[in-house]
Amino acid sequence: MHYFNYNNNEMYCEDVPISKLVKKFGTPLYVYSGKTLLRHYKAFDESFKPHKHIICYSVKANSNIAILNLFAKEGSGFDIVSGGELYRAIKAGGDPQKIVFSGVGKTDEEIEMALSKDILMFNVESESELYAINSVADRLNKKAPISLRINPDVNPLTHPYISTGLKKNKFGIPYESALETYLKAKKLKNIEIVGIDCHIGSQITQLSPFLEAIDKIKALMKELERNGIEVKYIDLGGGLGISYKDEDPPHPNEYGEAVLKRFEKIDKTLIFEPGRVIVGNAGIHVTRVLYTKENTEKKFVIVDSAMNDLARPALYGSYHSILPMNKKDGENDVYDVVGPVCESTDFFAKDRSLPKLERDDYLCIFSAGAYGFSMSSNYNSRRKSAEVLVMGDKYYLIRERDTFEDLIAKEKIPQ
Ligand SMILES: *Cc1c(COP(=O)(O)O)cnc(C)c1O
Repeated sequence: MHYFNYNNNEMYCEDVPISKLVKKFGTPLYVYSGKTLLRHYKAFDESFKPHKHIICYSVKANSNIAILNLFAKEGSGFDIVSGGELYRAIKAGGDPQKIVFSGVGKTDEEIEMALSKDILMFNVESESELYAINSVADRLNKKAPISLRINPDVNPLTHPYISTGLKKNKFGIPYESALETYLKAKKLKNIEIVGIDCHIGSQITQLSPFLEAIDKIKALMKELERNGIEVKYIDLGGGLGISYKDEDPPHPNEYGEAVLKRFEKIDKTLIFEPGRVIVGNAGIHVTRVLYTKENTEKKFVIVDSAMNDLARPALYGSYHSILPMNKKDGENDVYDVVGPVCESTDFFAKDRSLPKLERDDYLCIFSAGAYGFSMSSNYNSRRKSAEVLVMGDKYYLIRERDTFEDLIAKEKIPQ
């Protein structure tokens, strides 16, 4: 459910016509619906109401501080994967005591930063990371709260590029050596074991992989208890999928119910790290048609956004539904929707049936709220998009479009 709909043949976000926003802010433009963001956050949170839990929104899905602030005000914590995300989360009003730090390559500098902010825990992804955290904590005279990210070796049945819980993936500590690593962690003077963590992948549209992972984590929890290790937190990661096209992922309620059934009478605080499911369908990307052209094989629509603005199609061949900002009558045509960047992967849709398009039409690319702006770059020296947050009939520019000066601000010509 989202709040992007046609109203008198014009696309609206909540009570604001998109045309008004493009007139004011130009394109390429990201538009987020505040109502949708809050509704998704609350639905997810409500699903776990019967159990002690913390939602740690995954910052990398959409990192704008206005959006982080919206969630922080709802009581959300944050799942971060870098010092930059820690900086953002705190600037946005995030409570460090609800921040978990994931990622396979934390630097000493990032570890120090997180320790000095007193975050909730580090999700440790290797034995060597454990020793690094221990030594930084020793230097700072602190005890670092940690959980081990376990790789449960389950198939998340998703795109291979976003599956993380298989043996062949770089993430986490192998299930078989988990106990051994916990026992090593227990001996470290500046480490405090507080949790078990797993995150098996993204855009998961079935319950079974989650439940399979949970069963393995529960078995490990019991094994740890037999070895004198009690944890407070079970972090189940993120990964719940959304509908881009015709996927039918479980509703958060359904996911919540199935998960909680497996934690009945288990007195642990559950942690969740949702990203995509909260923000994915709460944002669209708006672009303007520059040209149409055709050759003997194909018709192309060339738009003013590119893979640097929305990388998912180029990266994963992802499907995004596309609708014109102003509804059009008449017959459809079949187009490749492409951007101006000099790469053949620079496309938003292939062989897509769309109303006949012409120069200065605008297109709304849906499901762009997650891994959209946050993955954008300045490739081809393109200025990053502006971002707008809509709330009812109000709208706020939450990120200005880059200027040309921004593009070279850090660069220097040697004398
Ligand atoms: C990316 C990521 C998430 C969020 O994944 P979604 O599929 O967006 O829910 C959660 N936890 C970790 C460790 C991640 O890397």
